[in-house]
Amino acid sequence: MKNDIKTIAFDADDTLWINETYFREAEKQFCSLLENELPAHLVSEELFATEMKNLPLYGYGVKGFVLSMIETAGRIAGTNASLGLVHKIITIGQELLQKPVELLEGVTETLEQLSGKYRLIVATKGDLLDQERKLQQSGVESYFHHIEIMSDKKNSDYQKLLQQLDCRPENFLMLGNSIKSDILPVLELGGFGAHIPYSITWAHEQHEHEPEHRNFVALKQINEILNYL
Ligand SMILES: [Mg+2]
Repeated sequence: MKNDIKTIAFDADDTLWINETYFREAEKQFCSLLENELPAHLVSEELFATEMKNLPLYGYGVKGFVLSMIETAGRIAGTNASLGLVHKIITIGQELLQKPVELLEGVTETLEQLSGKYRLIVATKGDLLDQERKLQQSGVESYFHHIEIMSDKKNSDYQKLLQQLDCRPENFLMLGNSIKSDILPVLELGGFGAHIPYSITWAHEQHEHEPEHRNFVALKQINEILNYL
């Protein structure tokens, strides 16, 4: 029963604020560094393959992305690779780590409405320091009782989180832009999932179908959660 929901967890990237847009811009810049070696779409493919290979080693976030760009550039440019190229890639990454935090529409108002009625938390992947920075700059950090920066969002990761929060799955709602990471594992555990798509989704997070589940709700904007609850 959705009346049992007591804790609401928010994904951060592309749920509270813009993220994937910045990664795509960075990827474009990276591809243009290698335009004399390979067409952009092939550079992108190579980069994605490298990222997937490295995910178990580096986890999610900008720093792993930078290392994967450097590795990909080395492989593509071969003997044309230079330290100058590496410097340019590092700059792309450092710029990514200093992007302004731009909240998505309705976020502040929604948190304001839910605050005091529910225990609100953030559950996000990514680099620890980078996510802490974004939260600090977001202006909405004070709405949250707890911030969890997770190495992954699998079933077992949510199980650990629920234990830490001393929260039963039936009292837990997760809200996010990735069906694969934010919704399916939570539904499997017996919790609630609210999906709000972002305009672009990283290939790794793409999932074709919305689940048919009584604890699932599809929203267009974050403030629609207020009508659901
Ligand atoms: Mg997200």
